[in-house]
Amino acid sequence: ERSDRREKQVSGAEVIAQALKTQDVAYMFGIVGIPVTEIAVAAQKLGITYVGMRNEQAACYAASAIGYLTGRPGVCLVVSGPGLIHALGGMANANMNCWPLIVIGGSSERRQEMMGAFQEFPQVEACRLYSKFSARPSSIENIPSIIEKAVRSSIYGRPGPCYVDIPADFVNLQVNVNSVKYVECCMPPPVSMAETSAVYMAASVIRNARQPLLIIGKGAAYAHAEEALRKLVEQCKLPFLPTPMGKGVIPDNHPNCVGAARSRALQFADVIVLFGARLNWILHFGLPPRYQPDVKFIQVDICAEELGNNVKPAVTLLGDINAIAKQLLEQFDKTPWQYPPESSWWQTLREKMKINEAASKELASQKSLPMNYYTVFYHVQEQLPRDCFVVSEGANTMDIGRTVIQNYLPRHRLDAGTFGTMGVGLGFAIAAAIVAKDRNPGQRVICVEGDSAFGFSGMEVETVCRYNLPIVLLVVNNNGIYQGFDADSWKEMLKFGDATAVAPPFCLLPNSHYEQVMTAFGGKGYFVQTPEELQKSLKQSLADTTKPSLINIMIEPQAARKTQVNSVAKQKSEMHLP
Ligand code: ADP
Ligand code: MG
Repeated sequence: ERSDRREKQVSGAEVIAQALKTQDVAYMFGIVGIPVTEIAVAAQKLGITYVGMRNEQAACYAASAIGYLTGRPGVCLVVSGPGLIHALGGMANANMNCWPLIVIGGSSERRQEMMGAFQEFPQVEACRLYSKFSARPSSIENIPSIIEKAVRSSIYGRPGPCYVDIPADFVNLQVNVNSVKYVECCMPPPVSMAETSAVYMAASVIRNARQPLLIIGKGAAYAHAEEALRKLVEQCKLPFLPTPMGKGVIPDNHPNCVGAARSRALQFADVIVLFGARLNWILHFGLPPRYQPDVKFIQVDICAEELGNNVKPAVTLLGDINAIAKQLLEQFDKTPWQYPPESSWWQTLREKMKINEAASKELASQKSLPMNYYTVFYHVQEQLPRDCFVVSEGANTMDIGRTVIQNYLPRHRLDAGTFGTMGVGLGFAIAAAIVAKDRNPGQRVICVEGDSAFGFSGMEVETVCRYNLPIVLLVVNNNGIYQGFDADSWKEMLKFGDATAVAPPFCLLPNSHYEQVMTAFGGKGYFVQTPEELQKSLKQSLADTTKPSLINIMIEPQAARKTQVNSVAKQKSEMHLP
């Protein structure tokens, strides 16, 4: 028996799977083919959940969402050449979002290198621009340490994607089982605290603020800082503003949330504490005219290189958000302080919120058909379970939807993110549904898509149906990108038979029955044109926990050009992103 063991062989594929398992990686998304099929099979055998998708880009979006939702990277497994190239979009998106991710790419055989091998491409180099770490193990024995390094690099410091290249000839190569040493699971990321003097200074700047504001970004969500930040907000009675994916770290309906007075809050705050939010386009770079020229920023971030970007901060707190929020709390425990709730700043913010909320309610109550965005989102919000994941993408669909649809839990909103990527929705929804299935069965995933956004990864509906993930997909359909035409104007414009007529670039086919994409694979599909139909179909979809559904919601195609939507545009400029 002892000699048996000495001679027992293990394949490269099995070593990769075991190394991932040892690093506590639980989820793998991808598309199999030469040369990676055996890796997926070996992973499944070890109990890693494998989800086969229809395009590597969507698979990579899904794997990256796993990293954000669980704090442990998901794997995206792809074939060589084009497979890897398709995954680059997902890597870039994860890199921009600072989400951990492991991409494993098969590559051509080593002995055919530079000979024009099947799907040969400089993959390690190609991934470098989109990752923190990109490498090819030098031998099978070297795989466990490279995978440990990739997993560790993806979660230590500022999180991000890492790439591991696996030459085709490694996959089925057999080596003696005793020659492979698995590296122990890497330790959780070390938690760093900010310098004591900086914390002291930050607390004193906050105490002296006349118009303070906390901004809570998706870095705070990733850092699981919800409890500490909530304490800070409540103890000091400070107004806070979530960024799009910072929504839910503290519930949107918290009395201190000033989301509905976003522009006003940014414009007039004199001290802003940034918890895991960069001063990029989403926050208008921290510069006038959207901010006071002399606003004092206190930046809290794990990445030193981020501190000082676009503005000169008053105080920088380098370290983990959760730890630093607790450090700040300590200061306010030692010398209790709270921001006066009757200040004129609070009054200004509350007034503005009232006005904005009333304006959007007014739009929502309009009875004209086709519906407008607000009507749709109010009816959706009414029925959404409090604990559901909300995934959203599309231009107006995402921007307006964000202001109406509430989040009550951290890490439960996924959207186009820092990179403004369209096509992420289906992959994110699939990842959320897989996590829900394992951790909280019965929890729902709602995916609110514009019709254009849906098109980017629409075939993943087959994946949703194959794994029977009870996702509720809403396609808010205006027949186009930003806007479209109704069927009559479309016909008129194209003057059928006129060979010179062309469709405008922003147009999509009017009245497309996207719900049939869902019924094609056995899910439920609804085509709705009225609030009543929307209410009824959503109710049925939410009641059915056994099946995915797609509700294709027809809205005013020219919405953005009507008076109603002129005021939507005005609303937008007051309440939403640029
Ligand atoms: P948002 O889009 O919500 O504004 P960003 O993606 O711009 O958020 O910013 C998130 C920031 O959070 C990044 O700068 C990242 O370095 C930081 N971050 C991520 N995890 C942590 C953590 N545990 N502690 C501190 N900062 C973190
Ligand atoms: Mg559209």
